Amino acid sequence: MNYTSTRNHRVSLSSAQAIAKGISPEGGLFVPQRVPLFEEGELRELTGLGYRERAKRILAKYLTDFTAEEIGRCVEGAYAAGKFSSPEVAGLHTLEPGVEILELWRGPTCAFKDMALQLLPRLMTVSAEKTGSADKIAILVATSGDTGKAALEGFRDVPGTCILVFYPVDGVSPMQKLQMTTQEGSNVSACAIKGNFDDAQNGVKAIFTDKAFEQRLAARGISLSSANSINWGRLVPQIVYYVSAYCDMVAKGAVAAGGKINIVVPTGNFGNILAAYYAGLMGVPVHRFVCASNSNNVLTEFLQTGRYNRNRAFYTTSSPSMDILISSNLERLLYLLGDEDTLRVNQWMAELASAGSYDVGRELTRKIGERFSAGFCDDKGTAQTIREIFETRGYLCDTHTAVALNVYMNYRKESGDQTPALVASTANPFKFCASVLSALRPELAAGSEFEMIEALESFTGIDCPPQLMNLRGKEERFTGSCSVGEMPGVVEQFLQIV
Ligand SMILES: *Cc1c(COP(=O)(O)O)cnc(C)c1O
Repeated sequence: MNYTSTRNHRVSLSSAQAIAKGISPEGGLFVPQRVPLFEEGELRELTGLGYRERAKRILAKYLTDFTAEEIGRCVEGAYAAGKFSSPEVAGLHTLEPGVEILELWRGPTCAFKDMALQLLPRLMTVSAEKTGSADKIAILVATSGDTGKAALEGFRDVPGTCILVFYPVDGVSPMQKLQMTTQEGSNVSACAIKGNFDDAQNGVKAIFTDKAFEQRLAARGISLSSANSINWGRLVPQIVYYVSAYCDMVAKGAVAAGGKINIVVPTGNFGNILAAYYAGLMGVPVHRFVCASNSNNVLTEFLQTGRYNRNRAFYTTSSPSMDILISSNLERLLYLLGDEDTLRVNQWMAELASAGSYDVGRELTRKIGERFSAGFCDDKGTAQTIREIFETRGYLCDTHTAVALNVYMNYRKESGDQTPALVASTANPFKFCASVLSALRPELAAGSEFEMIEALESFTGIDCPPQLMNLRGKEERFTGSCSVGEMPGVVEQFLQIV
């Protein structure tokens, strides 16, 4: 099975080529030419397997040019015993009868991005081998926090790769910053940017599109790549955990075999919820997908009205990983639901680039409305939900998960829809300790990051994961910062090509 582009059907590449390239030359995103389907009884069979075995089976349907040995090697390495704090890798927690929380943050950096970024480097190096490239892969990342750390950890000491992360000097939480500045590994680096996330992202994009620079690197056997969620290699591992969660729900009796579920996802770049949609297309019985946003509610408006408009105020919220106005992966949904009409996708994306908005029209809006519901909640609602969920259910959730739970509770109240729900939980609450603590006990939310962690631990009786706690007093390796204009120089120095 080959991959094509959302903007050009003449593109046809193997999965290894799609993963190695990351993005199609005309700017489109790679999508499988057809979505593989589960056969009769296959979901039941998967229910009897563990996470890694399920992952191998599902990945094999998408990565048809990989051998079983290659997929096995990648999966066993990414989800090796001990890397994730629970044997089932991503496990369920019953919030109440009918509501299952899918805890995706049990990995090395305590955010759901580990699920994909532990596997991506392995898929990338195998893809490079398969496409005959002997180049060293240099990963450049602009991050607002979680992606940077998860990518550093994922690529750390992976042979044939190196990684440099840029983050906005004042745009990440103290914990996120510490996670990056203390990163271990011989092939990693991180640098603060005097600017915001957009500046960092624009700086990285400028380096990616600099043809002269690309040639200089090529002459030295280096090719640049991105760990951003537009890469198919980051999306496909996420399909796995939705299928796996459905199997687990059946196994624990939260849904009857073959029964439908709703999937609720706190959304930023639309990657995580799109993976859920793919799981549904493959045959996981899904009634509705509920897209939850914070005050940056561009997706809520789009899914409800068909009009995407990024010309709006940008809010810095307590769920920073969802502070985003351009949801890149939405392009794949438009392609899938818009009858794979690349012409129209091109048109919309051109309008987005030039005017900052587009309208997909009534017919497509109706089709979206058949599968998706959407809602948003502000910081006040997020804090209220954290408190309510802790006080009434004894469950501690982070700000992003709280947005999802808030939107879901409203959805259920308004629609009366009692379909069993699966709610994606995307970060460990200790990763956003200040916000979580001030939601529960505002008077305790003061002092250093680690004082607040101790306060949250003693108030809730829940332990902070050692991956975060062990950063206390750890040596900071990467304390440098630069202006946007200095970014190319930092890259040259890192790659030792000055
Ligand atoms: C990245 C992130 C999200 C948003 O995920 P998308 O795939 O971009 O929609 C939500 N929560 C957390 C904690 C994240 O790190």
